[in-house]
Amino acid sequence: MKRSRRLASSLRDLRNAASQLPDAVVLLDRQQQIRWFNRAAENLLGLRRPDDRGAPLQQRLAGSELAAWLHDGAHEPLADATAPGRADSQLNVSLLPFGDQEQLLLAHDISHLNRLEQVRRDFVANVSHELRTPLTVIHGYLELLDPDDMPELAAVLGEMRTQSKRMGQIVEDLLTLSRLETQHRIVDERVPMAPLLATMRKEAEALSQGRHRIVLESTAAADLLGSPKDLHSALSNLVSNAVRYTPTGGSITIRWERVPDGAVYSVSDTGFGIAATHLARLTERFYRVSSSRSRDSGGTGLGLSIVKHVLNLHQAQLQIDSRPGVGSVFSCHFGRARLLTPGGNDDE
Ligand code: ADP
Repeated sequence: MKRSRRLASSLRDLRNAASQLPDAVVLLDRQQQIRWFNRAAENLLGLRRPDDRGAPLQQRLAGSELAAWLHDGAHEPLADATAPGRADSQLNVSLLPFGDQEQLLLAHDISHLNRLEQVRRDFVANVSHELRTPLTVIHGYLELLDPDDMPELAAVLGEMRTQSKRMGQIVEDLLTLSRLETQHRIVDERVPMAPLLATMRKEAEALSQGRHRIVLESTAAADLLGSPKDLHSALSNLVSNAVRYTPTGGSITIRWERVPDGAVYSVSDTGFGIAATHLARLTERFYRVSSSRSRDSGGTGLGLSIVKHVLNLHQAQLQIDSRPGVGSVFSCHFGRARLLTPGGNDDE
């Protein structure tokens, strides 16, 4: 008797504690019917007691992103979904199995984090925007000064021009990133690949100035569907990196080829390569393997972040294979839905 009272009291404590959790918790039976939920679930998911006890969760959340996710099997956690109980809140939701085919739905309110992220994005965008005009003025005046008129300051002037150009490039890259971050969709247009690839080759040659062997292999016979400006910027960033991180005498190959589930644009080089420990962090802003090498070659440290964002907007994936001292391959995998027949006006 004593034992069962102790058990009942522990159970009550557990429920009381769970009901106070800031995350929404819903216990579901085998049929995904609601067995129990806490206060946060009332607030965030809009569940009501006692009516919703025993109700099928999917039906109870009908019309919401969460219901669609449950309907599709909820295999992966759902990120950034609008809270069914509060339109101004966003949730990260996961479904965990427990007991005998029962499930636990957990929803974490990320609105606060999202707001902080928005403040960070706005701050970066505003600072970059504010810096643009003064930098343009400084750059303009520096261009007006003729080193021949002041030979003793020629070296200083040269360095000032290089640095002001670098600052200008950083500001432009930050503004591009801000725009890409706030953009959730792109306006799809046909991007003819033959001229774009020819431009890539020309850009590589111009940057290399004869120091590398540049090869273009285009066998995909496919155009892309997406944003011409953003795709140009992403594909050309990879070419520029290959040239900048490959010593004189190396070769660079730009490829556009078919794979079973789409097409791949890749840039291979025989350059310095990258140690495996760096690969996962390479697309972070300002992450560089070697700061001096990046700076000396005119890098801003933002190129691969831009590439990643542009590819995300096109539902494409970036793959990096590299070996120090041997070279690197940066590949962009585009799905079938992004491919168009050149010259035609049909989607494939
Ligand atoms: P950066 O402007 O510094 O080149 P990126 O974002 O384009 O910035 O690249 C991040 C870092 O990744 C570079 O600083 C460099 O260390 C490394 N990296 C990028 N591409 C290559 C490459 N093709 N070969 C070797 N290292 C590379």
